[in-house]
Amino acid sequence: MATSVGPTPTSKGYECLQGGGEMGSIMRSFDWASSVLGPVDQWPQSLRTSVSTCLNSRFAILVWWGPELVMLYNDAYRQIIGAKHPAALGHPGRECWPEIWDIIGPMLANVMQKGEATWASDLLLMLERNGYPEECYFTFSYSPIRDESGGIGGVFTPVADTTERVINERRITTLRDLAVCAANARDIRQACRLIAKTLSENPRDIPFAAVYLFDETRTSASLAATAGVDLGSTIARPFARIPEWPRQLADAATAANATLFDDLTSLLGPLPSGAWNAPARSGVVIPILIPGQKESIGYVIAGANPHKRIDESYRTFFELVGRHISSAVAAAFEYEQERKRAEALAEIDRAKTTFFSNVSHEFRTPLTLLLAPLEDALANRHGILPMGAAASLATAHRNARRLLKLVNTLLEFSRIEARRFQGSYQPVDLPALTADLASNFRSLCERAGLQFEVDCPPLASAEPAYVDPDLWEQIVLNLLSNAFKFTLKGKIELRLHGKDGNAILTVRDTGIGIPPEELPRIFERFRRLEHRRGRTHEGTGIGLALVHELAKLHGGHVSAESIEGAGSTFTVTMPLGSKHLDPAHIVARREIATHTVAADAFIEEAMRWLPDQQAETNEAYRRTMYNGRRQVIEEHSGGRIVWADDNADMRAYVSRLLSGRFQVEAVPDGKSALDAIRARKPDLVLADVMMPELDGFGLLRAIRSDSNLSGLPVILLSARAGEEARIEGLHAGADDYLTKPFSSRELLAVVGSHIELSRVRQQVLEARKKAEQSARLLASIVESSDDAIISKDLNGVITSWNKGAERLFGYTEAEAVGRSIMMLIPPDRAAEEPRILASVRRGERVDHFETIRIRKDGTPVRVSLTVSPVRDDEGRIVGASKVAREITKSPAYS
Ligand code: ADP
Repeated sequence: MATSVGPTPTSKGYECLQGGGEMGSIMRSFDWASSVLGPVDQWPQSLRTSVSTCLNSRFAILVWWGPELVMLYNDAYRQIIGAKHPAALGHPGRECWPEIWDIIGPMLANVMQKGEATWASDLLLMLERNGYPEECYFTFSYSPIRDESGGIGGVFTPVADTTERVINERRITTLRDLAVCAANARDIRQACRLIAKTLSENPRDIPFAAVYLFDETRTSASLAATAGVDLGSTIARPFARIPEWPRQLADAATAANATLFDDLTSLLGPLPSGAWNAPARSGVVIPILIPGQKESIGYVIAGANPHKRIDESYRTFFELVGRHISSAVAAAFEYEQERKRAEALAEIDRAKTTFFSNVSHEFRTPLTLLLAPLEDALANRHGILPMGAAASLATAHRNARRLLKLVNTLLEFSRIEARRFQGSYQPVDLPALTADLASNFRSLCERAGLQFEVDCPPLASAEPAYVDPDLWEQIVLNLLSNAFKFTLKGKIELRLHGKDGNAILTVRDTGIGIPPEELPRIFERFRRLEHRRGRTHEGTGIGLALVHELAKLHGGHVSAESIEGAGSTFTVTMPLGSKHLDPAHIVARREIATHTVAADAFIEEAMRWLPDQQAETNEAYRRTMYNGRRQVIEEHSGGRIVWADDNADMRAYVSRLLSGRFQVEAVPDGKSALDAIRARKPDLVLADVMMPELDGFGLLRAIRSDSNLSGLPVILLSARAGEEARIEGLHAGADDYLTKPFSSRELLAVVGSHIELSRVRQQVLEARKKAEQSARLLASIVESSDDAIISKDLNGVITSWNKGAERLFGYTEAEAVGRSIMMLIPPDRAAEEPRILASVRRGERVDHFETIRIRKDGTPVRVSLTVSPVRDDEGRIVGASKVAREITKSPAYS
């Protein structure tokens, strides 16, 4: 920089350089005299005024002056031009800005020659202000400065450096577009392609990119998408084998965070240049991470702008790009998983529907073939039936009909669900039809002690109701049958009325109700509530789902309201008239039967839920079975069984099977079973697992926790097949477990063996008690006897020794047991013992054998011995018992 010793800032003509911060002081000390502009006091006033304005502005201002466009600028402008200062000051523009002169030179010349102002907004100028051609953006205006001659002396240039804003906006756009990828991608590969496309739209910040996905071993990766790079180049190989890569790159590809490379060229060779003339040199490797997976699933190699230093904000940009890429891929992954799950579920659902409809169909033929001969037989078309056979046939017939009803419901439901069934609609007198259908339930309700109210006034509508009578029948019967099933006392009401062009059917009951959390799901297929106090546990969870589908077929809907413990109301709303129906499915009015096979099946089924004494069918059945007598079963030697099951047919069937050998008390639930057991303890309890009130497991628990009953053999019956059910039953403490269907032989065998086992157990218990009593008695006799009572084994080793022996011989029990009997025998009588033992071995007693024995203190004692063989349980002689009595003092021997 030139310095001056010339005029001071306050010298005349130099006032224009006053103030202006650092640039002011630099300009004041500048050797202007040696510059193109000459000494300041000789500058034209217009230049001086412009320079003064420039120096005292906070906005970046540059003044170009004279034909050579010499540069004069302030502090703010100095910041913009970086390393070009101080060389630029007082020097011609062309020398300072050779790299952009082709752009700004003509603009300036235009202003100087024509005096027309011009401006540029966010103009890209590649300034070498930091030692490399840097991407910079400026907004500026060129205004002519008129000199005293009236010509153009120079150009006044306020400048704003908009580089940061322009680049930030561009990067934000990229990030925003990447975020959109997350919403649009349907699978991971598509996400990669969308990401690459988005990156390719910003070739300035990301001159190139290649997205790779790892294979399962993570040792190689396949190329998923590229941006700004030729396929097959080192960056975009279809497969990248990671171990063959330079070490730093391989590490970066498998790392958890983005890795920046100042010099990617040295690792990958020449790189693409994107939007620039020069190739990229540096770049970044970004891992693709998915939440929930420990390691990255792939990576992105991206180039960096060769005209921008990787500063903090660039680094942050790459980081955010990485995060957005990961989120987009993760969203696609999640979507893919969700879709696969949904597809799998839909497939299962389809398969289930197909299965149900196939299987139901297949069931119908054999069932029909079963029913026909049963009906013939029951009608006694082939002659008189043997007694008892009618009952069995009636059970078979009733259950075959029940099975057919279930199968028909399933079939109907799956056909409707698969949209294979549309119905045939006809105009009907809906109140009359509904009331007639409901009347099927009247006597059933009366028998059950329930009030039954039916109110179906005329609909008062110009439009008739169009229904498919068979389907409407299903709606009414299902709702009434449920109301009956879940209402033990009170009332069932059925109403039908017209309102606002709709027919509204309500079935209200005062039954057990439905918990509020279950209400929204009650119409789902197979939805059932466990542990309910209804008339039965029977059910499939299809009834309400079917009602829901049938109401929909009629253009209507069904809803439920309920208060748990107080009752439920089901409402079917259906538009009147036929506008909502497909004309192709409307048929002419025809005769409708309301007492149908379906209605019979519903009633017959419901009848079986009644307690035995109320159910006419069961009474009738019993009458046939026991020839008019009540079910009195005499005492049988086989034992007494309490048998619990809520299914009346099952109850009767098993009772009949067992009653030949055992006395059976059949009850409909666990609670009644417990009452019966407590009233009189049976020899065995047989119980179904699924029962209302108290189920089989509950009954078992009650029995096991009652000390009077805990030993009672319990056999559980269940329809749940499989080993787990068996294990569950046995773990719960059941003695045995039978799964339905079981054969009568199997049942009799299991029941018989458990009764036998319990009897033997009882006998053993009693025998043991007796044995223990006599053992105790014997022990006390032995203990209190004056005689010495000793036992020994066949080798003469003493095995027991009573107090009498201690008194007679002086040895305590502890001293004697385990020693040889020879310790008592004087040496001159040693031969006696083998002789005695030989007799014992032969099973002979030795009575009153008089001899001499030696006491502990060495004194002799005359004794009379009685020795008897001792036998084990199998009669083998295992030792001898010996009674020794002192006869020294006895008068007979003294
Ligand atoms: P299912 O009766 O064969 O079990 P549904 O689909 O007809 O099947 O009914 C589903 C469940 O809804 C029943 O298991 C029962 O718990 C409940 N439910 C249906 N109707 C009533 C009612 N009127 N009162 C109480 N609960 C009911």
